[in-house]
Amino acid sequence: MVHHNSCPLCSSAAINLKIVCNDHFKSNESFPVWACSVCGFCFTQDHPDETAIGKYYESEDYISHSDTSKGLVNKIYRMVRKRMLRKKRSILINETGLKQGTILDIGSGTGHFAAAMKDAGWMARGIEINKKASDASAENFGLDIISPSDISTLESNSFDSITLWHVLEHFNDLHGYIQEISRLLKPGGTCIIALPNISSYDADHFRQYWAAYDVPRHLWHFNPDTFGFLFEGKGFSMVNVRPLPLDVFYISILSERYKGNRMAFITGILKGSYFALPALFNKRKSSSLIYILKK
Ligand SMILES: [Zn+2]
Repeated sequence: MVHHNSCPLCSSAAINLKIVCNDHFKSNESFPVWACSVCGFCFTQDHPDETAIGKYYESEDYISHSDTSKGLVNKIYRMVRKRMLRKKRSILINETGLKQGTILDIGSGTGHFAAAMKDAGWMARGIEINKKASDASAENFGLDIISPSDISTLESNSFDSITLWHVLEHFNDLHGYIQEISRLLKPGGTCIIALPNISSYDADHFRQYWAAYDVPRHLWHFNPDTFGFLFEGKGFSMVNVRPLPLDVFYISILSERYKGNRMAFITGILKGSYFALPALFNKRKSSSLIYILKK
């Protein structure tokens, strides 16, 4: 178990309990989320360490790893994923200004995004901790996927772009990863990081049921301010923040389900629309955000 005595972001000792969340996905155990009263950073407290976290991911339903197609929500997730893959690819091409180049997808899961970039003519590699997922990437798409423990074997300044789609919140060694990203990116290279937004309309509404808390798998809970603070002084400049507009529907449906609503799908779609509309005009309140950093 990992207990933080001080803020993992600014090191202040002024940290306090914010909310207690349940692991609705797997264990049904409770985990507290704490907040720093100096910098505002929120983090899961007393979470399993790297040797113990594995069992919290072990499920046929953990979609980013198992690629299952069971259930209505998962079916829709797959449809949306197809659409999102195209969107992510266009974001990457747009933000790098490159039609082709080298890309490292950290937390590549079953390899769909790296494969989409490979299809577009990029030299794509991935990093994935889950053996089943990385094997599937190699088998289905012929991708070269390495384990996180081998990240140090990758050559410095070798990637035009590094992407982390909803993965940074899972990493114990937050600061170590940022150092590695900085080492691996070419000067002028682009890092794209997508994260749930704890300051979103849907997080405010669902409180402890907000599905993107996803404790204890999500260790860190960012908003635009704390994300900016994390990268400050680390050799990056934040050039853009973009919303991921469809995530709010998936998160709202799941959150309604966690609340025990038997009409979770319908209510989730309705509430998702209700949160998505004002977020069009205030992207800092979007359910998920994509941060674009340049080295
Ligand atoms: Zn702090």
